[in-house]
Amino acid sequence: IKGDYQQSIAYYDDELRKQMLERQHMVSDFRSAIAKQEFRLYLQPQVDEQGTMLGAEALVRWFRPVHGMMLPEEFVDVFEKSGLISAMDQYVWELACKELQRWKAMGKEQYYISVNVSPKDFYFLDIYTTLTTLVECYEIDPDKLRLEITETSVMKDANKHLALIDDLRTYGFRVVMDDFGRGYSSLNMLQDMNLDAIKIDMEFLRRNEDPERSRMILEMVLNLAKELDIHVVTEGVEQKDQLQYMQELGCTLFQGYYFAKPMPVNQFEKTYF
Ligand code: C2E
Ligand code: CA
Ligand code: CA
Ligand code: CA
Repeated sequence: IKGDYQQSIAYYDDELRKQMLERQHMVSDFRSAIAKQEFRLYLQPQVDEQGTMLGAEALVRWFRPVHGMMLPEEFVDVFEKSGLISAMDQYVWELACKELQRWKAMGKEQYYISVNVSPKDFYFLDIYTTLTTLVECYEIDPDKLRLEITETSVMKDANKHLALIDDLRTYGFRVVMDDFGRGYSSLNMLQDMNLDAIKIDMEFLRRNEDPERSRMILEMVLNLAKELDIHVVTEGVEQKDQLQYMQELGCTLFQGYYFAKPMPVNQFEKTYF
């Protein structure tokens, strides 16, 4: 028995060491990954009730030699811990702006792109200067760039970050609260913050064991959002009954595999333009 136990410790150590090494490799590969353009933009459409595409969320993919395509879940956390995330986000935002510039030239300037903003960006980056410089450089309309922030971003240094969000909105950007309902202070936040939209993940319903209760919470959120003139996007829509459920509650904007998975930019344009 003792031998087995020691072996499993050794095995555990081995796994942990492998994981740590892998994380270190990701960090040391970062610079060359940027230089070699290994990070690419995938787009997932956001649609209205009729299924008409209005815009897209930009979701990053890492095309890494040997490893193949890596999903954000494998590297975003690593880059957040090592502080590299802001360089990656800046890069992704620029890719999105380049796309918007191309779309404008193609006469497709009605569509927006929604980008993700890591909570770390609020500390490591001058978000305002970075974004205003980008839209000026690419000559795009700021209201075509949506910024998906999370509650954690505004929890610390709330006053400072709320002021930044106001400044960004005054400049013309649209600000969206991602993963609404995942934290605890969502409802307060809705009152305190000036937002253009919130995103509710269908996961919220899957996670909650009491369907009656979650329906009541959703109804409350949707009513409050309506009163405050905040749009609601339901994401993670996989099935028709989920879509119908949210439509019945008054939601009009959707994103999810039911409509389309995230796809490369050229495929997105082929499908929707
Ligand atoms: P998120 O912002 O909540 O993005 C939505 C995630 O749900 C995406 O995963 C998307 O592919 C996935 N999804 C979309 N529709 C469905 C559906 O119907 N069912 C299910 N089960 N999932 C669906 P993805 O692309 O793997 O990204 C994961 C997370 O990584 C994102 O969650 C976001 O937090 C982060 N992320 C992605 N791109 C970036 C980026 O450029 N910068 C930063 N900082 N974070 C990013
Ligand atoms: Ca998002
Ligand atoms: Ca989300
Ligand atoms: Ca999600």
